[in-house]
Amino acid sequence: MMNSGKTILVLGGGWGGLAVAYRLRGQIGPEHRVIVIEKNTKFSLGPVNLWVMTGDRKYPDDVERPFSALARKDIEWLNAEVISLDLENKKVRTSTGTINGDYIIIALGSESYPEGVPGFVEHAHNLFDAAGAAKLHNALLQFAGGKIIIFVSNTPFRCPPAPYEAALLLESMMRKRGPGEKTEIHLYTPESQPMPVAGPEIGAMLRQMVESRGIKYHPNEKVARIDGASKKIVFEGDKESNYDLLIGVPMHRAPRAIVDYIPTHPQNLRVLIDAEDLETHLPGVFVIGDSASIMLLNLKPLPKAGVFAEEQAATVASNIASDIRGEEPRAVFDGKGVCYIEAGDGMAAEGSGDFYAYPGPRISINPPSVEGHKAKEEFEKLLKTWFV
Ligand SMILES: Cc1cc2nc3c(=O)[nH]c(=O)nc-3n(C[C@H](O)[C@H](O)[C@H](O)COP(=O)(O)OP(=O)(O)OC[C@H]3O[C@@H](n4cnc5c(N)ncnc54)[C@H](O)[C@@H]3O)c2cc1C
Repeated sequence: MMNSGKTILVLGGGWGGLAVAYRLRGQIGPEHRVIVIEKNTKFSLGPVNLWVMTGDRKYPDDVERPFSALARKDIEWLNAEVISLDLENKKVRTSTGTINGDYIIIALGSESYPEGVPGFVEHAHNLFDAAGAAKLHNALLQFAGGKIIIFVSNTPFRCPPAPYEAALLLESMMRKRGPGEKTEIHLYTPESQPMPVAGPEIGAMLRQMVESRGIKYHPNEKVARIDGASKKIVFEGDKESNYDLLIGVPMHRAPRAIVDYIPTHPQNLRVLIDAEDLETHLPGVFVIGDSASIMLLNLKPLPKAGVFAEEQAATVASNIASDIRGEEPRAVFDGKGVCYIEAGDGMAAEGSGDFYAYPGPRISINPPSVEGHKAKEEFEKLLKTWFV
């Protein structure tokens, strides 16, 4: 008898990869295989890092889960590194061998490499790493006051509001803990404004949010190196600033296996031949989450965020399930998303946006509220749903 079971390869078991694997399992029968190829042994939920920094959550229990504890045993986890892809033939070369699929979903995320800034690894706290956020928390407990610098190494980076959230949470934490009066918080970024993709009005609103809390904002500043011996951060153009505590958003780049972020169709998430004319190719191959490069109508890329990865996962899972059933794939990713900007004092500002609007994203941000913070905590349910 011919085996009608299909093999779906999910490359990367992060937010997008697990979302698509779980969605698929809910829509296709047991004769089909869903294999997640993931190099790490643990899943880590990014937004929780901020609460690890403040001490509201503990590392590793509140932020990481082992892939061996995936709740659905019919999702296979292959612990291997994706080395290279032959997408025409749907072949994936991994550190443990080559594997073929009927469908491939690329969800390899965006890779951070702190070593891209000389001195980062030795002297800065890495906010984008859960263990780094835990170390930062301990350093903050010892901190007796002084100058805290938060810096962004390059763009694009994951979750554009994260450094602003970190600054607001720190201000609130320092104010409550004591050394507030003796503490200055500075935020340096190569961006021209907060969240440039969202347009000047939203940028001004976020800038006002941080500046009204006494945080000093320094846009258009790209870090060149960190001089730990003299506790100085040096920017391009030789501007420099001393610091007492340094917190960094590390350099980001596309994972090596895909070389660069992949031009992706905004609605069906298939690979584009040419970002200009939206012609897709490679049927059965999809890109979701941070690995995708989706150009918006204001010619800026869709931000890298878990909420988008999750919605894109839902679209792709639905379309693959339809294809397997022999039906027309009709699901479309609409570019809408909600984010919650932590503002400290147990509150977060809810921002919601239509990123596919013309001539650019239409975004609104509500004032910080306790409800906004509670809504952000809902992300943590993923850990409970996906793992035992
Ligand atoms: C501090 C912080 C706060 C954040 N806050 C928010 C928030 O509030 N809201 C929001 O929407 N998003 C937030 N994000 C962003 C969010 O975490 C990412 O956008 C999201 O995880 C992207 O999902 P992804 O599946 O594309 O990539 P990832 O979740 O990064 O997953 C990629 C996976 O691929 C694996 N991988 C990479 N290369 C290989 C390889 N060669 N072989 C095998 N496996 C590989 C990685 O190990 C990883 O597990 C935050 C991120 C951080 C760091």
